[in-house]
Amino acid sequence: MHDSSPDGRAAGKTFDILCPANGAVAGSLPNMAASEVTALAADLRAAQPAWEALGPDGRATYLYKWLDWIMDNERRLLELVQSESGKSWGDTGIEIMVAVEVINYYAKNGAAFLADKSLRPHGPASLTKRLEVHYKPYPLVGMIFPWNYPLGMPLMDVPGALMAGAAVLTKPSEVTPLAWTEVVRGWNEEIGAPPVLGCATGLGGTGAAVVDAVDMIQFTGSTKTGKKIGIRAAERLIPCSLELGGKDAMVVLADADVDRAVGGAIWGGMFNAGQSCIAIERIYVEAPIYDEFVSKLTAGVKRLRQGMDPVGAYQADLGAMATEAQLELVERHVDDAIAKGAKALTGGKRAAHGLFYPPTVLVDVDHSMVCMREETFGPTLPVMKVADEIEAMRLANDSPYGLGGSIWTADADRADRLSREFLTGGVSINNALANVFQFPLPMGGWKESGIGHRFGGPNGVLKFCRQQAFVAERVDLKTEVHWYPHSRRKNKSTDRAVRLLGMRDWRRRLGLKPKR
Ligand code: NAD
Repeated sequence: MHDSSPDGRAAGKTFDILCPANGAVAGSLPNMAASEVTALAADLRAAQPAWEALGPDGRATYLYKWLDWIMDNERRLLELVQSESGKSWGDTGIEIMVAVEVINYYAKNGAAFLADKSLRPHGPASLTKRLEVHYKPYPLVGMIFPWNYPLGMPLMDVPGALMAGAAVLTKPSEVTPLAWTEVVRGWNEEIGAPPVLGCATGLGGTGAAVVDAVDMIQFTGSTKTGKKIGIRAAERLIPCSLELGGKDAMVVLADADVDRAVGGAIWGGMFNAGQSCIAIERIYVEAPIYDEFVSKLTAGVKRLRQGMDPVGAYQADLGAMATEAQLELVERHVDDAIAKGAKALTGGKRAAHGLFYPPTVLVDVDHSMVCMREETFGPTLPVMKVADEIEAMRLANDSPYGLGGSIWTADADRADRLSREFLTGGVSINNALANVFQFPLPMGGWKESGIGHRFGGPNGVLKFCRQQAFVAERVDLKTEVHWYPHSRRKNKSTDRAVRLLGMRDWRRRLGLKPKR
């Protein structure tokens, strides 16, 4: 694997982080070589056993201290996020909300999730056994992150792994590593925590070195990179959990509350300038309300304010695209749609200055256009008129991705029925992106959107553990019936017992010959 970055910057001893809104250099960090990553991994491994020995309650104490420190430094951390991502100040704040929720959820519930599980033995022959499942963390978990939520992404995954008792080696995106690097410094230098959280900064090659240094890998990013990581994990025979791209569909049925659906579409499609894996990327509206929906959507999108507003100002709704490459991808999708007959009712061309793409509503779209097939990851809402729910669901499922989706209707039974037809890891009814922020629920993608579940519920901790099957004898017998030596008498009586206890009809239970 070679060093590369999304905007083509070359590998070197350090790399610059640029603000996409104005091109200013927001910071500079080391592009760590594989040998440095290996050394960092060794330090983390050395600290891990003591961390595990603290037990869940001891570990939760440090997570709470960390959360306090994050909140005490909130404004400074968010300024870093804004300087490296070009987000609006309002969008920036969401990152901390995630931190509070996830850290509290796993610190509070971690001990219960990690407790040994007692299980009832199956079948009378095992009644003398005591069965338990024990959870033992992978010593070192690697985590590689994308650029769209510089704090939100790591803070969805890291708390669960730390609660599990693992040491964690993180690798933030080279596009937005500044805020996360500071949060990891907070863990190591400000709250007296054991040194079990590391941060490897660098380009793609640094990420590849992380995969080579750890016992389990959690990756969030593009499907293209995810496949490479899955292949390398298979070669190393380590488990991987992959959270990849999406193309989430919104299905608006004729009985929906149109105003709420329009509000949800604007937020779900344009939040963070559309740079969310779970963003609404395409909309299917039943014919009777299509005109009303499109007219209200267009009016609402025209009211959005775009820019990187000053800290604390809340004067802009959505901000910049993170990189020139991402902006060009959005341009390509919109240009392709327009060339094939679509119309842009708002936006449709990049802004004159900075990496901004104006929020864009596209109509007269169809599945021959890349904007309906490939992940756009930008502020575009292509809307398609459909005859009925059958056509809507057929088109919604006509995608290589399967991350999330939403259904908008006043009929709860219809919503329930159609949700089961959605081939996605999550479905929200009358809301956008909602399933991801309900922490007891598993979050994960189907099809090309990923493997495994990223976080949510007990799995958000247990996925970082190996399961140990534990069996103990309740009664100490001198021997077991299946132990040596074999004998005709003993084996025959075992066969009889197996039939008597295991069969469902008396003829077989008693070992009688089958009727001819
Ligand atoms: P990316 O795949 O280009 O990069 C992600 C990370 O992988 C970066 O840190 C990068 O340095 C690293 N990397 C690159 N090459 C590597 C290699 N060979 N080995 C190891 N690491 C390597 O993704 P991106 O452009 O930063 O992020 C955008 C993508 O992330 C979108 O496709 C989006 O859908 C996806 N995403 C998914 C979720 C989810 O939960 N499903 C969440 C956010 C983003």
